[in-house]
Amino acid sequence: MATSFSSPLLHLLRPSPFSASLRPTRITPERRIFTPFAGPSDNPRKEEVVVVGAGIAGLATALSLHRVGVRSVVLEQGDSLRTGGTSLTLFKNGWRALDDIGVGDELRSQFLQIQGLVMRSEDGRELRSFSFKEEAPGQEVRAVERRVLLETLASRLPPNTISFSSRLKYIERQGSEGTLLELDDGSRVLAKLVIACDGVHSPVAKWMGFSEPNYVGHCAFRGLGLYPDGQPFKPTVNYIYGRGMRAGFVPVSSTKVYWFICFNSPSPGPRTSDPYVLKQEALDLVRSWPQELLDVMQKTPEDVVIKTPLADRWLWPGFSPPAWANGVVVVGDAWHPMTPNLGQGACCALEDAVVLGSKLRGVIGGRSELIDQALSDYTQERWARVFPLTIRANLVGSLLQWENPVVCSFRNNIMIPKLVRLGPFLEHTNFECELLEPAGSP
Ligand SMILES: Cc1cc2nc3c(=O)[nH]c(=O)nc-3n(C[C@H](O)[C@H](O)[C@H](O)COP(=O)(O)OP(=O)(O)OC[C@H]3O[C@@H](n4cnc5c(N)ncnc54)[C@H](O)[C@@H]3O)c2cc1C
Repeated sequence: MATSFSSPLLHLLRPSPFSASLRPTRITPERRIFTPFAGPSDNPRKEEVVVVGAGIAGLATALSLHRVGVRSVVLEQGDSLRTGGTSLTLFKNGWRALDDIGVGDELRSQFLQIQGLVMRSEDGRELRSFSFKEEAPGQEVRAVERRVLLETLASRLPPNTISFSSRLKYIERQGSEGTLLELDDGSRVLAKLVIACDGVHSPVAKWMGFSEPNYVGHCAFRGLGLYPDGQPFKPTVNYIYGRGMRAGFVPVSSTKVYWFICFNSPSPGPRTSDPYVLKQEALDLVRSWPQELLDVMQKTPEDVVIKTPLADRWLWPGFSPPAWANGVVVVGDAWHPMTPNLGQGACCALEDAVVLGSKLRGVIGGRSELIDQALSDYTQERWARVFPLTIRANLVGSLLQWENPVVCSFRNNIMIPKLVRLGPFLEHTNFECELLEPAGSP
């Protein structure tokens, strides 16, 4: 039994500089029952496919595999689904992927379809408004509660798929046998294929040689305003631009409104654990901004305000390891963390899940060369999609976080009112991943 971590083994559980600022709300949905892996003294349990992480990428991947007839086991370190992050805006490419894995309509019925976009300056002046119908026909935008998204994905998995309180702490290649995974409690599993969906600070990605994501110089506050008697807003995304700071809010449902603030900060800053302090810090940033934003923030319970330093990883060819090696493959933020400036991180994780499921259809349990080919195809196809998007999201963020007053004036008086065109700006959402052919179809 391995107890120390030296090359080529890796200690997986280094605390992340970012993790303490995330204070996810824990929910306890209908628990998936799982028989823990064999104990330390036994032979490792053998599995064909193990997914590490029950976030959006992990659950969507497990569901995608299930749709094509492949059974997987999902290891999640938390004792329940994690819901930090309040809400996410999903665009039409994300909805297409959700349709592919069979949960699109169930989610659609719970969240408002957003009709357009309004941009304002920090003094409340309207700079521009857009209608999706007129300027980006066919676009589908909804802000979705992360909790509901995760619960919905989990609810479609076969019983016993997710193993909670299963924190991966050690990983080692075992030649052609597969990859040995050891959990915190000492139980072990030998997996033919490991799909790492363990998020932005993925321990598995580090083990594969990926660098830590880079902090990009701005942080985000997020929250969810609650309106038990009904929220008063039109179904539009509202952006407000200041100097070195921007904010936004978007109705999620008839009673909930998601908001965010993105602000420049030379470092991720001290970890703040007091929820009251976090909310006050967020409010202090925008005291003189439009009252509507302040109202949404005031209506937010403290425990649903979170602060996240934003980070990404650029997958330079030749410098970055491949997404797949020796039966281990990375998916979602574990591979391509990107800044949220295009609202594409989760959308791309969903696309990854569908593409990987489609490539692995019919090859699991068969010849290893076929699995390798499937993983290689996944890597190539997805790299071409996510690498440019990561860079684009970063550049858009840098432009929007301008501090220089002359440049901000140009942005507010010329760029936004006269130059921005919504259709071309949302071009990246036109991506259509291949349709998943359900198991049993020819
Ligand atoms: C401020 C902000 C706003 C965003 N807005 C949007 C948006 O509007 N639209 C959009 O599409 N995207 C958005 N994103 C991006 C989106 O949140 C991520 O891309 C998405 O959550 C990635 O999902 P994931 O499953 O890859 O990772 P995660 O959600 O981080 O899931 C990783 C899972 O792995 C588990 N795990 C980690 N380590 C281990 C271990 N050792 N053993 C077992 N389990 C482990 C974790 O507990 C977690 O459950 C935003 C991100 C931020 C920061």
